[in-house]
Amino acid sequence: MIVMKFGGTSVANCEAITRMIGIVRGKLEDRPVVVVSALSKVTDLLYRIADKAAEREKSEADLLLAQLRDRHLKLAEELLSSHPSILREACARVNSLCDDLDAFVAAVCSVGELSQRSKAIIISNGEYLSSNIICCAMNASGIRTNYMDARGFIITDADYLKGEPDMDAIAARVPEAVAAAYVNADAVITQGFVSATADGEPTVLGRGGSDYSASLIGMSVDAERIEIWTDVDGVRTADPRRVDNTRCLDRISFEEAAEMAHFGAKVLHPLTIEPAVRKNIPIYVLNSMNPAGQGTAILQSSFIEDGVKSVSCKENIYVINIFSTKMINTSGFLKKVFEIFSENKVSVDLISTSEANISVTVDSSQNIDRVVERLSDFAEVYVDSDKSQVSVIGKNIISLKGLLEQTFAPLRDCRIYMISQGASYVNISFVVDRTLLDGVVRQIHKYLFETDGENEGRK
Ligand code: ASP
Ligand code: MG
Repeated sequence: MIVMKFGGTSVANCEAITRMIGIVRGKLEDRPVVVVSALSKVTDLLYRIADKAAEREKSEADLLLAQLRDRHLKLAEELLSSHPSILREACARVNSLCDDLDAFVAAVCSVGELSQRSKAIIISNGEYLSSNIICCAMNASGIRTNYMDARGFIITDADYLKGEPDMDAIAARVPEAVAAAYVNADAVITQGFVSATADGEPTVLGRGGSDYSASLIGMSVDAERIEIWTDVDGVRTADPRRVDNTRCLDRISFEEAAEMAHFGAKVLHPLTIEPAVRKNIPIYVLNSMNPAGQGTAILQSSFIEDGVKSVSCKENIYVINIFSTKMINTSGFLKKVFEIFSENKVSVDLISTSEANISVTVDSSQNIDRVVERLSDFAEVYVDSDKSQVSVIGKNIISLKGLLEQTFAPLRDCRIYMISQGASYVNISFVVDRTLLDGVVRQIHKYLFETDGENEGRK
């Protein structure tokens, strides 16, 4: 059995879905569990609908709801014009989902209050719409496909917008659900991103969570491999929107992939790796626009050579500098500080400490107001929001002679505010001025990946 996850751009329209179905058709022997995202940009649209509802802007919400329905009905018509009865079925499913959503949004508008729970219900509709239409289209194309509702088996806690998976419950429920759906079928399909509490209350896994769904399912069915189909040729040495001459990586380790995803590479949801590692299941990142390409394989570390694989970065971070003389010669200070982060669910990327100072970086998508307030009770706190974080990632990079000098050599004229090297030897990260970020990443990339001969040893 394999898991094949198709992201938003791989199911964006009729052409993409036709291509996607062709890719699945080529793998039927492997018994695919197909996991789909919402059509591209649909989840953003649903977020806007939720916001409009919270602001009680009913007419604007209705306009957006009409766009949503329209796009999906048109897609169904394009895909299924030569199969009238399946088309009727697909349109009925789209209309029923959209009718329910319209009514739900109207109710939120009239109350003018949007709980996280209600928001989770609204934003999970993109995956329900796409999976229903694609299920119909697969059947129309001759692939007997059964539909599964992910809320029956992707079980999380009650953190509605970023549910934490209950691995045991998931591992217990998925195999049964998949086996039941595989009766008289060539393939089965379900939604990414969508989940529920054990009591069936709707939750979601957080933005970009469909990758995570795929690996949770892969883990649970002991998949032979997990294929993440996207719109790029695999994982690259740097973000091609920022750096020229990036290279696609043939293979990287689970650890390297986890660090890259966490430290800014946009290809995979950062939590995707963990469930796969538990069962040692290879993940392939593949391009649905170029299905013949070999993509990037993410494998156990023993299959991976040492060396630098990528220069990643996070442009938008906060650097939180905490000063306190109480820290000198005492114990328990760090505990006190990090308890505050933990209580407020703010996750920390880099840490460095000196005698009277702790500096940490956090992703700026997180709300740190409360953390700063609490820390200020016993320390001086300064937050920098004009800095960015660069990470050089690769297996055993610590053992590469001169890597540090060579990484920092191109940065002679640039201030470095923090440096942190993980004990895992996979990641060296540092903080620079945001205005210099692009230049820094390009220079390091050039030095590590683009100079012929002399730096090939960096691999
Ligand atoms: N549709 C969701 C999002 O846009 C989940 C995903 O695509 O992975 O965040
Ligand atoms: Mg994604």
